[in-house]
Amino acid sequence: MPDSLEQIAAEVAVCTRCPLHRGRTKAVPGEGSPNADIMFIGEGPGYHEDRQGRPFVGASGSFLTEMLEGIGLRREDVFIANVVKCRPPGNRDPEPHEIQACSVYLDRQIALIDPKVIVTLGRFSMAKWFPTARISRIHGQARKVNGRLIVPFFHPAAALHQPTLRQAVEEDFRKLPGYVAQALAEREPDTTEEDDSPGETFEQLSLF
Ligand code: SF4
Repeated sequence: MPDSLEQIAAEVAVCTRCPLHRGRTKAVPGEGSPNADIMFIGEGPGYHEDRQGRPFVGASGSFLTEMLEGIGLRREDVFIANVVKCRPPGNRDPEPHEIQACSVYLDRQIALIDPKVIVTLGRFSMAKWFPTARISRIHGQARKVNGRLIVPFFHPAAALHQPTLRQAVEEDFRKLPGYVAQALAEREPDTTEEDDSPGETFEQLSLF
């Protein structure tokens, strides 16, 4: 049976691959459009996310939604996930072995959605692609990794209470439509020849 986001969510709901399953109320697999051009990857569920089983529903979520609306997008247009799907106790940082254990799900989600651009929110998801980078140096800059644009952002929670970070996040969000357009243009097959002879193409097809 082919893999699906629903299948991943079902596996995550009963997963015991790492110790985080012991403290969860609900696992938070992620949500959004299966055809999203942009995938946001945060760190892990917090209190409200753990209760509701949905990512980014607290104050950080409102901020993320506001930033999306600022560039003409709704939450349903993108896909939002985390590097760990179960809440770390007391909102502590996820441990490397927990991130590693959970990466099987995130990697499958990325493969299925095949987003044009991945936005990492915070240093833990950034470290998946740029393990030695400093977020203050590279935030907002798109880099191509294995053919896909990855853009590190500050985590919305960090930006919520620090006006300078908030401004940086707003500026980084404004760059996103351009990155998506760039990624789409690079994926477009070169159709110059076909465009030059549309009649011929139509005639050939009409034979069938
Ligand atoms: S955090 Fe990920 S690997 Fe750990 S129990 Fe939850 S779903 Fe499984």
